[in-house]
Amino acid sequence: MITFLSGGTGTPKLLLGVRTLIPDEEIAVVVNTAEDLWISGNHLSPDVDTVIYLFSGILNTETWWGMRDDTFVTHSEAERLGTDEFIAIGDRDRAVHIARADFLRGGMTLTEATSCLCRAFGVRARVLPMCDSGVTTIVKTPDGWKHFQEYWVRLRGRVEIDGVARRADSPPVLTKEAHDAIRESDAVVIGPSNPVTSILPILECEGARESLRGLPVIAVSPFIGDRPVSGPASALMKAAGYEPGSYGTFLLYKDLIDLFVQDIRDPSVVTGAIRLDTLMTDVEKSVSLAREILTRIPGLETSFKAE
Ligand code: GDP
Repeated sequence: MITFLSGGTGTPKLLLGVRTLIPDEEIAVVVNTAEDLWISGNHLSPDVDTVIYLFSGILNTETWWGMRDDTFVTHSEAERLGTDEFIAIGDRDRAVHIARADFLRGGMTLTEATSCLCRAFGVRARVLPMCDSGVTTIVKTPDGWKHFQEYWVRLRGRVEIDGVARRADSPPVLTKEAHDAIRESDAVVIGPSNPVTSILPILECEGARESLRGLPVIAVSPFIGDRPVSGPASALMKAAGYEPGSYGTFLLYKDLIDLFVQDIRDPSVVTGAIRLDTLMTDVEKSVSLAREILTRIPGLETSFKAE
């Protein structure tokens, strides 16, 4: 089994390729939950939803959120009625948020609720929220600290930010399920997700860094130069006091990883890193990057080399 640490875009793009090469049953994904939000009375877990939809083949891979061909009737009507629903939620997507909220209110953990949703969608990979307690990434804007989604979706990332923090009622702890999946794995892949908003929240969970010890760990950079392939990763790195780019990313992971992957176009140099074409502009590109990465996992080398 291989475990991936994932946010909601870069790593899912890689998973799209991975699942054409190994069975879903042999894939576990520990997913960031620090972007979760209660909205319009329901529970949105954006990265978890993206990963569930990916493995059930219904993800909208134009946007990397929501379901393909979803409709937005309820969202439009809710807006017309004057609600503050600042995230566009599709009708079928909303049903998932309603179900999750219902499960959570009924006393399930987020891990259990996710497992129920996975069953309903026929997902065979293990989709594992990083923790079962609430934790939120907040950013410091000129108007004060805001939920990351407020900054990125409502304000479209158009304001300066100069601080990043995590807000939590209790220190987040890596779930037992995530811990066990990692320990059962032949290797762990830190996908090309936003280091500050997707990967560090996972690594900050109590027990997360320790769980990786002794396992082969490969990380893929989401940057080319000081720009991410998409999204606000540069602004977040700067606001958190890190250098945007592959080297800054490498420094965040260096104690954990055996191999660091940079894009062939990346002008910055990370000594010891390997160069691959990491730009996953279509499924074929995702598959070939996935194959290159799997080839470098000890024990799997020969299975993927020939193709
Ligand atoms: P989020 O939860 O939606 O923010 O998604 P992630 O954190 O999983 O992914 C966002 C990161 O994915 C961004 O920093 C992008 O630079 C990176 N990314 C997106 N597409 C690609 C790609 O094709 N290749 C690489 N290397 N990185 C990518």
